[in-house]
Amino acid sequence: MSDEKAIGYIKRHLESGKMAEAIDISKLTGVPVSKEELKSYLHQYLEKGWMAKALEGSEAAGMELKKEVLTGYVDKYLDDGRIYSAIEASKITGMPIPKERLIKIGRECLLNGKLNPGLEAYSLVEETPPEEELIICGKKCFDEGQLYPGIEAYKKANKDLPEEELITCGNRCFNNGNPTPGIEAYKKANKTPTREILRACGEKCLLERRTDEARTAFVAAQKIEETAKAKPIEIRETSLQEISGEIEDSWKGIGPKACLGCKNESGFKERYFILSRCPEDRKEEKLLEDLMKKRHGVEHYYIAVDVFGDDRGLIDSAVCGKCGSQDVFFDF
Ligand SMILES: [Zn+2]
Repeated sequence: MSDEKAIGYIKRHLESGKMAEAIDISKLTGVPVSKEELKSYLHQYLEKGWMAKALEGSEAAGMELKKEVLTGYVDKYLDDGRIYSAIEASKITGMPIPKERLIKIGRECLLNGKLNPGLEAYSLVEETPPEEELIICGKKCFDEGQLYPGIEAYKKANKDLPEEELITCGNRCFNNGNPTPGIEAYKKANKTPTREILRACGEKCLLERRTDEARTAFVAAQKIEETAKAKPIEIRETSLQEISGEIEDSWKGIGPKACLGCKNESGFKERYFILSRCPEDRKEEKLLEDLMKKRHGVEHYYIAVDVFGDDRGLIDSAVCGKCGSQDVFFDF
């Protein structure tokens, strides 16, 4: 082994907390490691919360770590809310952690959405975490797209899963490129995610070269598409007021511009309809024409697609205020 290689090898061991191995390699290869360097690594281990590794290393290096230094770290870990490091350090040093302090830390963990360390802290003092803290924790987890800890927190609080938060969580999962918990979150809320959000999730996974997850997202999007196609188009009359918050800005200027019967250019009476999805082919277009005529008495209309950012379509129809014709020209 070249010196350069040995140095890299030793460094990697030191960085991952394996000081005893690093010292062995140093002896075998004859590449020295200075006492100062070892001392600095021991300090880093303690800072990282690796007290067991620090002790092991200090023995191998023949450098004693003073008891008051170690007990100081129990305090430091507790202050930082690093519960697992604090528990390990407490066991090693024999310094007990006061009950009130554990409860305080457990509470802080839960309020910050850290379910497992929070529960761990409470269980160490054999207390049940308060319901409200668990619910705050669950909400926080859902906000961050942590579905399973969120579910667990609500379960521990004996509360039903809130639908709205599940959807928030699902969307967050999709945005983070995690289709499986995202789909699960929607399922638990008895809702279906949009094709668009699933596709966007799949694209993100692809970019990050996570092909299995990408496939999961694309397959789910495909299924939704197929289910939607199998359903007949539903028509519902609406008002501009009702949809104005929902439609994309670029569509807001669209409307009747001229009557093809009398050339009138103003005073049109408009009606709006929402389509559950846009017609796929000529046959469906014909069916829609018949329905619009029979049910709503509308013979001419304009279908705007992509107005809502999903599969739905918007029908805009107008009657000329002057001659009563429906044959109206629509434009932006
Ligand atoms: Zn007219």
